[in-house]
Amino acid sequence: MIKLTKLDLQNEEKKRVLKVFDSGFIAQGPQVKKLERQIAQLCGTKYAVATNNGTSALHTALYAIDTHAGDEIITTPFSFIATVNSILMIGAIPKFVDIEEKTFNLDPKQIEEKITKKTKAILVADLYGQPANYNEINKVAKKYNLKVIEDAAQAIGATYQGKKTGNLGDIGCFSFYATKNIVSGEGGMITMNDKDYFERAVQFRNHGQLSSKIYQYVDLGYNYRMMDIQAVILLSQLKRISKIIEQRNAIAERYNTAFVLLKGLITPIIDENRTHTFNQYTVRITKEYLYGRNQFQNILYRRNIETKVYYPHPLFFYKHLRKFQGKRDAYPVAQKISTEVISIPVRQNLEASEINSIIKVIQSI
Ligand SMILES: *Cc1c(COP(=O)(O)O)cnc(C)c1O
Repeated sequence: MIKLTKLDLQNEEKKRVLKVFDSGFIAQGPQVKKLERQIAQLCGTKYAVATNNGTSALHTALYAIDTHAGDEIITTPFSFIATVNSILMIGAIPKFVDIEEKTFNLDPKQIEEKITKKTKAILVADLYGQPANYNEINKVAKKYNLKVIEDAAQAIGATYQGKKTGNLGDIGCFSFYATKNIVSGEGGMITMNDKDYFERAVQFRNHGQLSSKIYQYVDLGYNYRMMDIQAVILLSQLKRISKIIEQRNAIAERYNTAFVLLKGLITPIIDENRTHTFNQYTVRITKEYLYGRNQFQNILYRRNIETKVYYPHPLFFYKHLRKFQGKRDAYPVAQKISTEVISIPVRQNLEASEINSIIKVIQSI
């Protein structure tokens, strides 16, 4: 079976982990600090704060920008569940805005009508690895004095108008879960330029303790720390992150060319002024295609190619989020897209023969 994800950890990562064993620090220590400096450098931000996963990074980011219970956060209905769950974790209210058909990301044109006196921030996701339309999103945010939080869990290293993700809004979040482009099993990161956000994030990650004073707990906090063991695995992969992104883009290019004539199958579109990390290569199986999405998936499965649907439902489909849906027919694009998308393997460690086989199978359907 050609799997959608297959770990790409190398000998150097193993060696570095063993060195941590002997260093005396196994929990958060000097390697986490080093990783934070390197991620800040990669993103072009002043600060970075490591966390134990991407969901806690989002929760911490919402705290850092001073979100309170009852505040409203504008967000996308088409993302991984953690995007919206983090809003509930801080006690805020998600306000969904439909997505663009082209990029699958939040439609900036529809944000303004959802803004109220209670709106605090816009939580944007860079789905599959493509940055959203930050020019327009930041413009609306500025006009109404809102903060912009970037869920770049899938998009580390992508750019928008030459700037890196994590530095496209007021605060950025990453995940290093096992399916992302660089991984530590579990892991997360928050990036920012604002010193106050930085200090609040450090505090929230460590039980609400002031960053400078031991046993000074100034507010509720959590234990969201990353371990040095995780940090060294990431430090090693950071050295090849541009190569990973390049390789994924090269495979995506080959697919785009190979599938261009397939009627009803729409390949990913990269909108202007941005680059994609291709954490997922996601096509749309539309009504014009010869088969339905399920049939397409089954055919590939029988030919030993694994595919997955990210994501089968808009987020308000789920029971605990249903009350935030608002008008039933307000999200026609997210509704339609969730019935069409399917992701095929695009990982950097695909063999040439596997890429050829995927192309041949899909062309022959
Ligand atoms: C992976 C992911 C997260 C959550 O990250 P975890 O590390 O699994 O907690 C959040 N948002 C998006 C868009 C993701 O893809």
